[in-house]
Amino acid sequence: MPKLKNKYKHLRGVGFQNLNNCNTRLGKGPSVVDVKYVRLSEASFNSRIHKHGSVLTFKDVDGSDTHHKPLRPSADKPSYIDRYGCKPRRSARRSDVHPDLLTNKLYEPAKVVKMFNIEFKRHMSLKQNCKGNLQIDGSASRKWGLCWQERLKCSNCSYVSAYYKLYEELNSKGRGRKAARANVGFQIGLTTTSIGNAGARRILNHANIISPSKAGMQGQSNSVCESLKVANEHNLRSVRRALVTENTMVGQKNPNMINVEGDCCYNNPLFNVDATPFQAGTIATATLVENNSRHKRIVGVHVASKLCLVASRLRASGKHVVCPNHRGICTANMAENESIGQEGKYYSSIANSLKSDDIGLANFTSDGDSKGYVEISKTQTNPVGHFKDLRHLGNSMRRAINKAPFSKNMLGPKSKVNLRSRFALSIKSRCMSELKAAHKAHNSDLSKIRQSMPDVVDTIVLCFKGYCGANCKKYSHVCPGNFRQAKNYLPSIVRIKMTSSDELVLKRCINMVLGHDNLSLTKLLTTTQKCEAVNRSYTAVTPKSVTFSRNASGRIHGQVLKLNNGYGNSAVIKTCALGAPITPGSQIIRQLKATDKELRASYRTHALTKRKLARAATRARKFKMHEQIHYKTGVSDPKPDFRGIHGLKDHNYS
Ligand SMILES: [Zn+2]
Ligand SMILES: [Zn+2]
Ligand SMILES: [Zn+2]
Repeated sequence: MPKLKNKYKHLRGVGFQNLNNCNTRLGKGPSVVDVKYVRLSEASFNSRIHKHGSVLTFKDVDGSDTHHKPLRPSADKPSYIDRYGCKPRRSARRSDVHPDLLTNKLYEPAKVVKMFNIEFKRHMSLKQNCKGNLQIDGSASRKWGLCWQERLKCSNCSYVSAYYKLYEELNSKGRGRKAARANVGFQIGLTTTSIGNAGARRILNHANIISPSKAGMQGQSNSVCESLKVANEHNLRSVRRALVTENTMVGQKNPNMINVEGDCCYNNPLFNVDATPFQAGTIATATLVENNSRHKRIVGVHVASKLCLVASRLRASGKHVVCPNHRGICTANMAENESIGQEGKYYSSIANSLKSDDIGLANFTSDGDSKGYVEISKTQTNPVGHFKDLRHLGNSMRRAINKAPFSKNMLGPKSKVNLRSRFALSIKSRCMSELKAAHKAHNSDLSKIRQSMPDVVDTIVLCFKGYCGANCKKYSHVCPGNFRQAKNYLPSIVRIKMTSSDELVLKRCINMVLGHDNLSLTKLLTTTQKCEAVNRSYTAVTPKSVTFSRNASGRIHGQVLKLNNGYGNSAVIKTCALGAPITPGSQIIRQLKATDKELRASYRTHALTKRKLARAATRARKFKMHEQIHYKTGVSDPKPDFRGIHGLKDHNYS
C-alpha cells in the first residue's frame, strides 16, 4: 500500500462516513497517480454521485467509473431567491421604510386621504411639539386578501394610530370578518378567464404585488362560485320569462311553447384513457338554447360532475365512499360508476326546470344522437318534434358517400381516397346549398319543397355526371348550368363515369338529406351551431389543462350569464348580485362599454359575412393548391417500375 499524505491520513479519521472506505480501496484502482479528489457543491454532488455498496464514484459517459473521487460536498451557492430573501444592507436601501411598503398595494384612495387627514390633526393636537412625519407602519400591516388595514406611526415620537380599513366591505349579515369587495370582484373576474388562483398569484407576484394567501383565495372563490350559480339561475328565470312575454307579443298560439336545440360537451382528458375503463370524462355540461329568436339565448344548463376532492382523499385512506351521499362537502353530483354520457338525463333535468316556469318544448334539434330526444319527450305532455342538425346530417351523408359501393372506375381508373372524399364533399355542399335555396324559394313551405325535390335530386346526379345545362337551369336552385357547381371541390381534370347502379347509390345517399321523409327532419333549417359555440366558450373558463374540481359548475354558470347578457352587462349583474358593485360613473364602466362595443362590431352582419367569405376563399385556395400538386396533368417525369422484384411485399413503401 502506498504511503498516504498526512492530509488523507487525517481524512480517514474524520468527516464523511461513506468515504472512509475509499482509502482502503485506493489500491484496487487502476493507478494511484490518476486519482484526484474533487469537492462539488451539494446539488451537483447529489445529481452526479453513484453509489455501489459503500463505494461512491462518478460515472463516465460509457458507464465506467471515472478516476476522480468525491469529497464531502460543499454548501450550495446561495440562489437569487435566497439573496433576495435577506434584508438589503442599510446603504443599499432606497430609504428607511419597510420593504413591504415599496411593493404595490391595493388601497382605496379616498380612504387613504381620510386616514391621513384625521391622523395629522390628532398627532398635532396630542404631540404639539413633535416635528416627526406620519408614515404607514409597514411592519404591522394587516392583510385581507388583496386589501389592507393600515395604521400610521410617527417617525419621531411614539405616536401610533388605530387601524384603518382601506377597502370597501361587503354588506353581509353573517358572523366573522366581512369580505372585501375587491377580493370578491377579483374572484368574479377570474371566473371569466381560464386562469385559476395559482395563475392569479403568479401574475400578482410578478407585478410586485403581495398576493393573497392560497387558502384564502380558494375559500373566496368557492363562495363566489356558489353565488354565481345562484345568480345565473335567477337570471335564467328572467330570460325565460322575457321569452314568454315576447312570444305573447308576437302572437304565438301558445306563448309558453319554445323550440330548443341541445348539445352536450365533456372535459375528456384524452391522455388519461388507460387510467380508467369508464369513459374518461369527469365533467359533462348539457345546454339547451332557445330557437324562437335569432338571439338564441341559453334557457337551461346542467353541469354533471364526478370530481370530488373529499371523496378521493377519503378513498386514498382506504375508506369506502359513494358520491354524492357522503359526509362533508361533495362537489360531485354523480356516482363514480355512473356513465358520464347520459345526455338524456341531463336534458330532462333541464326540461323539468323549464316546466317549473311553465315552459313546454315544441321541437328539439340535436346532433346524431337520438337518446336525448327520447328522454326529453318523456318529460313533455305534448308530442315533441325532433329535428336533425343540418351540419351533422350533411356530414353523415358525406361519410355515407365515402363508404358507398360505387363502381371501381367511377372516378377514373386509379382514383385515390382523397378524390373520393373530394367527391363526397362536393355532393354535400351542393345538397346543403340546394336545400337552403329551396327553403328560400318556396318560403319554407314543406309540401312545395317536397314536390320539387325529386327533380332537384335527378338534376344533381346529371350535373355531376357532366350533363350540366338545361336541366340545371330549369330545376336547380343554385346551378346556373355553367359546369361550375359540380366541380366545387373536384379537380378540374376528373371525369365522373357513373353506371346506372352508381346513379342509384348516389341518389340513395342524397336522399339522406333531400329525400321526401328526411326533409321534415330539417324543416326549420335549425342547427346546433349555437350550442357548439357555447361549448367552446365553456372551455375558455374550464380549460382541459386545469381541473376546477370544486368550481367548474360555478365558472360555467358565470359564463352562461355572460353569454346571455353580454360582457359589460354581465359584469354589472354579477358584481351587483354578489354585493361588490363596480363604482357607477367610474372609468371602469366606460371601459366595459368600450369592450362591448368592440365585441358587437365583430358580430355585425357585414363583419360576419366578410369572415365567412374569407373562410370560403381560404378553403377554395387550399383545395386548389392540393389539386395543383396531386392532380396535375401532363406530368412527364419517369417513375421507377418495381414490378417483378420479389420480396418487396412486406414493405408498404416500395
Ligand atoms: Zn410625533
Ligand atoms: Zn363526493
Ligand atoms: Zn349544373
